[in-house]
Amino acid sequence: MNSSLEALEKRSKELDLSASQRKHLLDRVAEYTEEYLDKQADLPAYQNKEARAAGITNEPLSEEGDDIQHLLHQLKTYVDEDGLNATSGKHLAYIPAGGLYSGAIGDFLAAVTNRYAGVFFANPGAVRIENMLIRWMRDMVDFPRSTAGNLASGGSIASLTALVTARDAHKLKGRDFDRTVVYLTAQTHHAIHKALRIAGLGEIIHRVIPMDKYFQMQTQELEKQIAHDKGNGLYPWLVVASAGTTDVGAIDPLATIGDLAKANGLWFHVDAAYGGFFLLSQTGKGRIQGVDKADSVVMDPHKGLFLPYGIGAVLVKDGDQLYRSHYYTADYMQDSLNANEEVSPSEVSPELTKHFRGLRMWLSLKLFGVKPFRAALEEKIQLANYFYDALKHKGGYELGPTPALSVVLFRYLPENGQDPDNFNKTLIQRIQEGGQVFMSSTRVDGSFFLRVAILSFRTHKKEIDLALDTLDSEVNSLLKHEKPTAN
Ligand SMILES: *Cc1c(COP(=O)(O)O)cnc(C)c1O
Repeated sequence: MNSSLEALEKRSKELDLSASQRKHLLDRVAEYTEEYLDKQADLPAYQNKEARAAGITNEPLSEEGDDIQHLLHQLKTYVDEDGLNATSGKHLAYIPAGGLYSGAIGDFLAAVTNRYAGVFFANPGAVRIENMLIRWMRDMVDFPRSTAGNLASGGSIASLTALVTARDAHKLKGRDFDRTVVYLTAQTHHAIHKALRIAGLGEIIHRVIPMDKYFQMQTQELEKQIAHDKGNGLYPWLVVASAGTTDVGAIDPLATIGDLAKANGLWFHVDAAYGGFFLLSQTGKGRIQGVDKADSVVMDPHKGLFLPYGIGAVLVKDGDQLYRSHYYTADYMQDSLNANEEVSPSEVSPELTKHFRGLRMWLSLKLFGVKPFRAALEEKIQLANYFYDALKHKGGYELGPTPALSVVLFRYLPENGQDPDNFNKTLIQRIQEGGQVFMSSTRVDGSFFLRVAILSFRTHKKEIDLALDTLDSEVNSLLKHEKPTAN
């Protein structure tokens, strides 16, 4: 070997750790994660540090390596002890989940072994695992065997995949766009609007169908609007319903919408990113009726299965349609073409090379069995009811509808003439700054409301009691000591 090659080899071999180096690394990381998990219940659910983690950029990448201890210290200082603590059971804002440890182990295994999960030929076992999970979810929503699906990075990409399929299944072309209509409600998640825009459909006609007092789509209004649009020579294409809206947790009347879609030739998409896995619980299953009538469904294992961020699922009832929209091949792929006993993830998604994200889900479901997931989801529904009833009991609160799943909408109505919007704005600011529990706010028909969303596997009665106590003490202190002002 010439000396330059030798020198390069010596340097490049630094990338390939020895057994003792690996052990050192893993031990330090395990110490770190153990300390993190030990402590995280006591950490605030939210921290808002002055510098907003700016210090992390003070140490730019450099030519020479650094020590793992120092890097973990940086991670702790700038990432894991600032902002929202998404592993906390006291995180009750947006849609929490927690991040199962078994999911992290699944990711670790997937990355260490780096199996190629995009193509059946390259790793039949990995593809079988992912398709097995798809079939498990297929059965959960009562879809037929013709279904195909994909484990995407989240609900947004899964939605994009579904809507592109719906576009192609209806053979929509640019010339059709100004007469093509989508039907949704004001509660539809913005990921749907974003997906439509990215799919080139931003300019189609959007009909925002009115909702009833439970934030459910009014199906008579939908029916009227479709008939009206047809009468005017428009092309009703897609109706999007939600099985658990993010904002208030409402479930649209899926069965009726499905029948209307079918009768009128529309694609029916159900966004169950938040609510889908409640089908595993008895109460949830009773409440999510008619999802089987959908043409496509999205559900997020990084929400309802509590997995770490980065996994969302799309299911399309007519799997061929999903395939036709996403299939592609190339000369350099020719070796992989014959082995299509199972559909490959790359044939039904925008991705080619992909993270073997099914492993975290498979490992978690296999390790624990499905039962604890069912229990946890049933528990979340009951906790939402418990929280709702407790507020009702306290008095002084204006409450949203009885929670359909695990989101509770509420606000405090001060009797001393203070403006409720200002009062609740100050209230949420105080709660967020205090950081003990983390809730969020929203607007309902123009009014400022607070919301609690219960979905972390670490949220139990104790955390909900803490949320109730925090509300009590902040409300009392606001009533007693301060004239809140909005800013
Ligand atoms: C979270 C959510 C989405 C978006 O999914 P991501 O996983 O955040 O990309 C879409 N729809 C609903 C109802 C959601 O709750």
